[in-house]
Amino acid sequence: MPIYRAPLDDFRFVLNELLEIDKQRDLPGFADLSPDLVEDILTNAGKFCEEVLHPLNQSGDEEGAHFENGVVRTPKGFKEAYKAYSEAGWGGLLAPADYGGSGMPITISMAVAEMAMSANQSFAMYPGLTGAAYGALLATGLPWQKEHIAKRMISGEWCGTMCLTEPNCGTDLRLMKTRAVEQPDGTYKLTGTKIFISGGDHDLTDNIIHMVIAKIPDADGTLHDDLSTVNFFMVPKFLVAEDGTVGARNGVTTGGIEKKMGIKAQATCVLNFDDATAWRLGPKPVPPKPGEKRSASAGMAGMFGMMNGARLGVGIQGIAIGEIAYQNGYQYVHERRVGHALTGPKEPDKSADLEIVHPDVKRMLLHSRSFVEGARAMAMWTTINMAIARSSRPDAEQAGLIADLMTPVIKAFFTDMGFEAANLAMQCYGGHGYIRDNGVEQFVRDGRINQTYEGANGVQAMDLVGRKLGRKGGAAPFALFGEISKWLADNEADAAMAPYVKGIKRGLEALQGATLWLAQNGLANPNNAGAGAYDYLRLMGIVTVGWMWGRMAKVAGAQLAAKQGNADFYKAKLVSARYWMERLIPECPMLLERIQAGCETVMAFE
Ligand SMILES: Cc1cc2nc3c(=O)[nH]c(=O)nc-3n(C[C@H](O)[C@H](O)[C@H](O)COP(=O)(O)OP(=O)(O)OC[C@H]3O[C@@H](n4cnc5c(N)ncnc54)[C@H](O)[C@@H]3O)c2cc1C
Repeated sequence: MPIYRAPLDDFRFVLNELLEIDKQRDLPGFADLSPDLVEDILTNAGKFCEEVLHPLNQSGDEEGAHFENGVVRTPKGFKEAYKAYSEAGWGGLLAPADYGGSGMPITISMAVAEMAMSANQSFAMYPGLTGAAYGALLATGLPWQKEHIAKRMISGEWCGTMCLTEPNCGTDLRLMKTRAVEQPDGTYKLTGTKIFISGGDHDLTDNIIHMVIAKIPDADGTLHDDLSTVNFFMVPKFLVAEDGTVGARNGVTTGGIEKKMGIKAQATCVLNFDDATAWRLGPKPVPPKPGEKRSASAGMAGMFGMMNGARLGVGIQGIAIGEIAYQNGYQYVHERRVGHALTGPKEPDKSADLEIVHPDVKRMLLHSRSFVEGARAMAMWTTINMAIARSSRPDAEQAGLIADLMTPVIKAFFTDMGFEAANLAMQCYGGHGYIRDNGVEQFVRDGRINQTYEGANGVQAMDLVGRKLGRKGGAAPFALFGEISKWLADNEADAAMAPYVKGIKRGLEALQGATLWLAQNGLANPNNAGAGAYDYLRLMGIVTVGWMWGRMAKVAGAQLAAKQGNADFYKAKLVSARYWMERLIPECPMLLERIQAGCETVMAFE
């Protein structure tokens, strides 16, 4: 049976020692965040994930979600677990207190989300998408919608979804065919088919609130192949009146659920909207004047807000799958006996040594651990930047730009690395990893989708290079490079920090070189940017996580020097930090070289 232990010590280290969140009390949501409260939340959430969610992970995978006679059912135990999850208040952690939530900052809700995703990704997606949906409703909805609908999603009484994808388009949403026609009472009639909708239908709650994007056709019924008329709508499964009364079933039916590679307990649905009553959210679109360029509609803003949160959440899924896979690989190699240590048997009285003696096995596990812990620090640091962006601190704008820059990196680099970690854990099990009963192959299957949904990783790389790098004259990379350079200057004279300063400097030089090359050559020929985008995103991921490792090494070194805390914990941190410098940072000059190769050969491939 697979195991899961909430990584509480690591959360404590990142939040209290690295990011010192107790000193951030001026940030929105941090005022009442005492160390005791943080400890209480993390400990209880960890216990819930270990004891309630994780035991349902393997059984949920075996049983899967069911679709019978138009009705979707989740696997045994999910409904009760969802009730317990909601009653404990985990689903409303991030929501404002005015709406029944706990008003916690995203730093805390992401920590809890990571543990839930590790313990049971299929389950955690139901409340995860509900959180994204109620967040969008709170940002764009009318007062009655917030009062009577968002509140019920926050309490866990109802769930929510995000409906973007259609049969002919997932990435290229310009091509969507779902249409919404305005009615005399101001509502809309929405018609079309959405596919691959996570949690699109199920038996966890009585009502489901769909957040849908659709096009408003011209008066003559024309749908344009661009984003100018795309708008954001709320479509409840059961209608809700302005006084909160629940009415008849809306025109939304479930066409089926997908049979898929992983996250089998998560109901991925085809939803058919047939003149469904819909409420438009956000500002009313102003159609372009004749001859005016058709651009993205203001109605897309709500959707982008929802997707940004969801992209961060998917990146956290990458860390989560990496964590549970690593834990199981680590346990297995301490039980399995195979061969002898290269330098001679470690346990001569036994027929073979434990698998952990082999350098290549240590390499596999250290690769995963240095990713998981480095990525966790980077994600948490990004959430602090998000909070600074919403504060009145002088660096608010800069923090917002850095958080925006990091979002596609977190989504793509962390899900790639999380999948790698799952695959390495499976390798630690040898052939037994391929056998279903041992549970480790589930992590590979579950973790694979994270690289694709919420925008395929290649598309994230295009977002990073095509949009985020150049925004405001390159202010975001400039700010990030400035912060890393300052840290390097501050630590250059510290002999104990020399391996980290050297590594991060090497990485930063490659990253700056690649940024300059893309600025010069990507504008001249956009294919140069497209061909190098994926390598650039990985380069930025390696350097920023490397910088986090430098910062963590500093804290760990200081604690060891002061003989404080758990010495083994800090020594392990230094080993992981050195691994990143020795094994990941050397990729940086190689990635630079690949980017500088440009697009010619790639584009010669027809
Ligand atoms: C299990 C599961 C759950 C999902 N949940 C949801 C959900 O809840 N809501 C929802 O709306 N959708 C959901 N999706 C849909 C998912 O977001 C899309 O599948 C994904 O965005 C890719 O879209 P697509 O499948 O249409 O691929 P396409 O858009 O056809 O793209 C195919 C491939 O082409 C490449 N590509 C495309 N465009 C570019 C480009 N501009 N630059 C470089 N490469 C490019 C990428 O490699 C991409 O993977 C889910 C999908 C799955 C499988």
